[in-house]
Amino acid sequence: MRVLIISDIHANLTALEAVLADAKGQWDFVWCLGDVVGYGPDPNECVDLLRSLPHLCLAGNHDWAALGRLDIRTFNSDARRAVTWTTETLRPDNIDYLAALPTTFVLGSYTLVHGSPREPVWEYVLDPLIASLNFSHFETLYCLVGHTHTPVFFELVKDHGETEAITPVYDQPRALNGRRQIINPGSVGQPRDANPMAAYALLDVDKARMEHRRAEYDIAAVQERMRQADLPERLIHRLEHGW
Ligand code: ZN
Repeated sequence: MRVLIISDIHANLTALEAVLADAKGQWDFVWCLGDVVGYGPDPNECVDLLRSLPHLCLAGNHDWAALGRLDIRTFNSDARRAVTWTTETLRPDNIDYLAALPTTFVLGSYTLVHGSPREPVWEYVLDPLIASLNFSHFETLYCLVGHTHTPVFFELVKDHGETEAITPVYDQPRALNGRRQIINPGSVGQPRDANPMAAYALLDVDKARMEHRRAEYDIAAVQERMRQADLPERLIHRLEHGW
C-alpha cells in the first residue's frame, strides 16, 4: 500500500489541491494527521475534499477548538479570531465529521497522532529531547506526528534514549531502517520551516520507504480569500514566508 501522509491543512484548499495534483497517481490511501481547519479561509471545502478521498484522519487541537472543545484563552488573539470565524463558518455535517475524529490510530508498524504519542492533541515534538521522552509512549516501530508544521525524522539511535533529528531530503525516498522513529511530514497549509511551499510525504508501506515532498501553490489566491473573510493580517502575511 502507498500512503499519502498529510497534516495541518489548516483550511487552505489551494495548498491541499496542489499536494493532491503533485502526488497524483502515487498513493492508494490518505493518512491525515489533524488540524484540517483553523487559520485558513476554506474549512468546509477542505473537509469536503478530504471526505471525498479514501482516508483516515486524526483530531488536531485546531479541529477541537473549532468544536468548542478547548479553552481557547491559551491561543493568541489572531488564532482566537480564526477559531471563532471557523466555528461560525463550518457546516453542521462537517462539525459532526470533525467531532468523530480519533486522537490516536495504530496501523501495523505505525502509530498516528497529531501532537505526540504521550499527549496526542497537545504536545509539540520540537526537538530530539522531547522525541526521546516519547518513544516509551508508543509500541510500534514508527510514529507519525504533525502539529509543529516542520518536516523531520527523529530517530532513536540507541536504546538508552539517544535521539537524532534528521532533516528530510526532498524527493528522495528514505528507507525506514528498523530503528524507531517519530516522523513529521510538515504542514500542507501553513508551513513554519521558512519554506512556504506545501509539505507532505509519501509512504510505501510494503517497501518501508518514506519520501518527503514540497509543492508550490498560489499563495496570493489564498491570501485574497483570507482578506475577504476578514481573517487577521498576520495570518495572511505568514503564508508567503513560511513561519
Ligand atoms: Zn497545526
